[in-house]
Amino acid sequence: MLEAPAVRIPARAGMHEGGRGEMAATKDGDRSFRKLLRVKPGSKVDLVGFDYAETFGREKKRAEADVADVLDRLADLQARLWAEARHPVLVVLQGIDAAGKDGTIRVIAGAFNPQGCPVTSFKVPSPLELAHDYLWRVHQHVPGKGEIGIFNRSHYEDVLVVRVHGLVPEERWRRRYEHIRHFEKMLVDEGVTIVKFFLAIDKEEQRQRFQDRVDDPTKRWKFRLGDIEERTRWDDYRAAFEDALSETSTDEAPWYLVPANRNWLRNLAIAEILADTLDDLDPQYPPAADGVEGTKVE
Ligand code: AMP
Ligand code: MG
Repeated sequence: MLEAPAVRIPARAGMHEGGRGEMAATKDGDRSFRKLLRVKPGSKVDLVGFDYAETFGREKKRAEADVADVLDRLADLQARLWAEARHPVLVVLQGIDAAGKDGTIRVIAGAFNPQGCPVTSFKVPSPLELAHDYLWRVHQHVPGKGEIGIFNRSHYEDVLVVRVHGLVPEERWRRRYEHIRHFEKMLVDEGVTIVKFFLAIDKEEQRQRFQDRVDDPTKRWKFRLGDIEERTRWDDYRAAFEDALSETSTDEAPWYLVPANRNWLRNLAIAEILADTLDDLDPQYPPAADGVEGTKVE
């Protein structure tokens, strides 16, 4: 199939280099978050020995400035991706309660034109959803060409909460890792770019965030007493996360394991990984329609 020639407009000056950018992790550098945080396919993830407060030598003040630069990059890339309407991009966010999924979406999606950025939050399945296979409700929310679709929780809940609560027998959820690998491979084969982020906080960090939710009237709505009950299952969740990440990080659809005790590090890492991923798609504004160029509008 012939593709129309794309129009190349240089990226805005100052977004990639110069100024404070020189220390920032870059796409190809060894210090890029893509290299640092990617879960190597086939590796066994260990969350017990994990450093949830890791900073990779970054400093908060500088990182907050860097993240603003990366969000500019993301805004430019998304505008192109949306205009070009060729590539669907699926961003999956998982993490225990209070890991920062909502905050991440506020920051990342805040850089985007909302029309091109559908966000889907997966809650306890409805009776209609439960009457179908577990991927049924998920597939219809996979983004279309030009969209960056963000999943706030996802089909992974079906090997996480479902496993921890024994909502289906083990022989059923165990087979789901393979289904998920195949499902995601099918999407990638059909042109979807998939990036998956696991936001990793430790138990003490969750305690503080829960307490903050209880104490702060603007956050209290997020807290349910059931959250405390879930918290008692911490080790079961950890085991479920370890297996999910180990079983389903693939070359096509990698997981990034993000130390998320520090919001600023989490925001910087996710923004950079996403920007580098979009860069690889090299989205371009489409060419003008026939006869448009040079037209004088009276
Ligand atoms: P929240 O993200 O705080 O709005 O909560 C959504 C809730 O829905 C969480 O407790 C999830 O564990 C739960 N949930 C999401 N997907 C599923 C699923 N497939 N089966 C059971 N519970 C789910
Ligand atoms: Mg919740």
